Amino acid sequence: MERRRVIQGDERWFPTPADIIAYNLMEAMRQPPCPICGLMRRAEERFLFSLFWENVNSPHVRKRLRDSLGFCATHTRAVRQAVNHPWVGPLGIAILYRDFAQTVLEGVSRPAPLYARLFARENHRVLRLLSPTKPCWLCEQSEERERTYLGALVAGLDASPALRERYGVSHGLCLAHAERTIHTARSGEARRVIATAAARQAQRDNSDAIANLLLCQCGAADITASTRLEMQCPGCHAEAMAEQEFLQAITPEDLARIWLRLCPTHQGQATLWTLHRHGSEFAYDLVKQTLAASESEPYDCPMCDHAHNAAWAALETAGDEARERACLPHARLALETSTPPEARTWTAAIAARMGPLVRDLGELIRKHDYRFSDEPLGKEKDSWLRALVFFGGERVNG
Ligand SMILES: [Zn+2]
Ligand SMILES: [Zn+2]
Ligand SMILES: [Zn+2]
Ligand SMILES: [Zn+2]
Repeated sequence: MERRRVIQGDERWFPTPADIIAYNLMEAMRQPPCPICGLMRRAEERFLFSLFWENVNSPHVRKRLRDSLGFCATHTRAVRQAVNHPWVGPLGIAILYRDFAQTVLEGVSRPAPLYARLFARENHRVLRLLSPTKPCWLCEQSEERERTYLGALVAGLDASPALRERYGVSHGLCLAHAERTIHTARSGEARRVIATAAARQAQRDNSDAIANLLLCQCGAADITASTRLEMQCPGCHAEAMAEQEFLQAITPEDLARIWLRLCPTHQGQATLWTLHRHGSEFAYDLVKQTLAASESEPYDCPMCDHAHNAAWAALETAGDEARERACLPHARLALETSTPPEARTWTAAIAARMGPLVRDLGELIRKHDYRFSDEPLGKEKDSWLRALVFFGGERVNG
């Protein structure tokens, strides 16, 4: 009874009184960007704030982050960008990443147990030592939040004419979220209002509106990272080159055709690139084609494929140099197909690199203590950044 009254009579649309999810969505719909993207981004900022402000030394938090050996590439970049905030700074990063480096060092320094020497392939054993046992924590939380908000929005749009009306005059969802919403909405009216809002945004003669529509803020804005080509890790370097090559060849028509198959990061990259190069005229066709697709499909990103193959070949060619300079994700890629003797060289090389990193991070932490803070910084000065790059790949540095 209550629910019905609120939905029909009140333009604020609240499924239950004081529904915080509905309240957040309504607030986020007031201004760009996409309400789901905006809510996710704000929650990520809050997470990083509380992590670096008060949780770096919490055993439970440390354990969870150690299980995933830091963050995925996208969220390592978020940490990298957050370092300029007074509440992050290098100290918190040094404390966390010394822990991860220590974990890796202990893993690779331990002699292989007998059963492993007898029954496991050496490269698989090393690969397991260097692999996270859990996914990126921030990804996990963001996906959960995204599901909750998308679910609530779809339920609201299905049930409430007041919300549909309100949505119709807002700037709407980004295309990636509009596409997912359309494929989960049950009522034709809800699907119509989402498609109409997206088409209207696509026809606006306003580059900000177009960018807000086409770029899911969750995976966007990686283009600068891939134009930075002088990288240490042969895998990262080859990936960046391969992405550039892919982008050079892409036309707006191609983009509309493959848009749904691209992973969020490459969707962002390819869309930004095409916007820079061709202006926004293609937006309307892209939106129409994307929203007309009969169902959401899992990513099968051709750009990832291309980059992945290039990285793998570059690591093969680089040999010993790769072992001295590869980031951890690319070390894992090389280990997938390496021979047992090669795997042993990888173990030795990584142990040799982790030792000094752990020491430098320790020095950096020590010099943050007020008793030693007047000692000048030496080579440990940038150890926090070297650690971020080792665990998250070089693209964090874009
Ligand atoms: Zn979005
Ligand atoms: Zn992540
Ligand atoms: Zn790399
Ligand atoms: Zn991709």
